[in-house]
Amino acid sequence: MKVIGVDIGGTKIRMGVLDEDMNTHLDLKVPTTFPLYELLEKEILTILEKHPDVEAIGIGTHGFVDPKKGRIVYATELLPGWTGTEVKAQLEKATNRRVEIDNDANVAALAEAKIGAAKDYSRTVCLTLGTGLGGGVIIDDFVLSGGPNGGAAELGHMILYPGGVECGCGRKGCAEQYVSGTALRRRITEAGLSYQPEELFKADDPKAKQLIREFTYDLAVVISSLQATFDMEVVVIGGGVSEASDYWIDDLQEQLKPLLLNDVEIVIAQFGNEAGMYGAAQLVLKDIHK
Ligand SMILES: [Zn+2]
Repeated sequence: MKVIGVDIGGTKIRMGVLDEDMNTHLDLKVPTTFPLYELLEKEILTILEKHPDVEAIGIGTHGFVDPKKGRIVYATELLPGWTGTEVKAQLEKATNRRVEIDNDANVAALAEAKIGAAKDYSRTVCLTLGTGLGGGVIIDDFVLSGGPNGGAAELGHMILYPGGVECGCGRKGCAEQYVSGTALRRRITEAGLSYQPEELFKADDPKAKQLIREFTYDLAVVISSLQATFDMEVVVIGGGVSEASDYWIDDLQEQLKPLLLNDVEIVIAQFGNEAGMYGAAQLVLKDIHK
């Protein structure tokens, strides 16, 4: 069975024709232009002309998604005009194929859970430490997706410090403001240091080490709360910050010890930029929405 996996981001859209074994029959990137739905439909129809044996289309996108209706509940100005788009209904009509769509963090988590770093586990939580703190939860092989509000598994917006640093969501103290690449930059500046985040981890400087300890402590608290909620077998950590994991993983393990109810595996994500496309394909290769 062949499917199309689509990863929609603010600057580019990546599309692949993939099969169950994740053989890539096509891997294409186009710049994101607007109106976005029209672009998406045109590109998909072009691919289908060359690959008429494609049976379904899976899509991961920035924004809050109602996966049941296949509708974009809310997308920021990164994707103007995308809010409210009935992607599933329109694209199924245009292509005569099954279409599934979900939030990009959920889809990336699905790739790790099904074919990546957590493929041997059935209860997985993924944390992506990049610009923000993205999350995805796969329990008993099903994705915990958004409901009508599209807001489930928005792990970065769990409040970590009530009344703390203001978040883009309008509230204060969200985990994303403490545990993300952007947060790390802020913490470095506030500590009066001038390292780039990647330099910080390698620095032989007690102030830098203290900052890393505070950062891994906050990450450990997030993982501890998630364990109490989901009792996951494994946590997959991805995103830019995970590339330096050799320098902070021991610190994290140390901080976790007094905070966990049970042991939990901590692993680093297997996929980078291709996670979105692979995960989107997984959306339609198996029935993963409960
Ligand atoms: Zn927030």
